[in-house]
Amino acid sequence: MERRKETGFKLTPQRLAILAYLDGNTNHPAAEDIYRDVRKSFPTMSFATVYNTLEALKRRGEIIELTIDPERKHYDPNTDPHHHLICLSCKRIVDVHKDFKINIPRAQRQGFRVTGNHIEFYGVCPDCMKKGGVDMAVFKCEECGATKEGRCKPKKCSKCGASGTMKKEG
Ligand code: ZN
Ligand code: MN
Repeated sequence: MERRKETGFKLTPQRLAILAYLDGNTNHPAAEDIYRDVRKSFPTMSFATVYNTLEALKRRGEIIELTIDPERKHYDPNTDPHHHLICLSCKRIVDVHKDFKINIPRAQRQGFRVTGNHIEFYGVCPDCMKKGGVDMAVFKCEECGATKEGRCKPKKCSKCGASGTMKKEG
């Protein structure tokens, strides 16, 4: 893998606007959210600029990348250790500020010195509960016709075992 030397992080007005958006932000925005907002003041700014800035900030340890949402990466300017809770329906992410004092028993640690953890909780937020909970969909196997209810598309049919044949119904 090619390892690029980190060149100086120049604070262009566009980058400053991205930093200002992130400063104190506890909403865990995705790159798309930041792009949508900052573009209002910088209509010529590209999505690549936002993404590259986020990557640079991440490498510099100024923001944390969250992979709790399988669809999009989210970013957190709060680099202090804390955990996260995601709503599986609307993908809203909130902070969980509590030290759970969990550890890996020595026998499972494989010689590692454990220095931290990040717990990802998931559930349904109050707003989505009011709306009736998580969106469920029915998926039908094109191969054998078996159906399965769920939140996301199954990779395999649980009946016939075929891959990539589950299609959303209706
Ligand atoms: Zn929600
Ligand atoms: Mn957070």
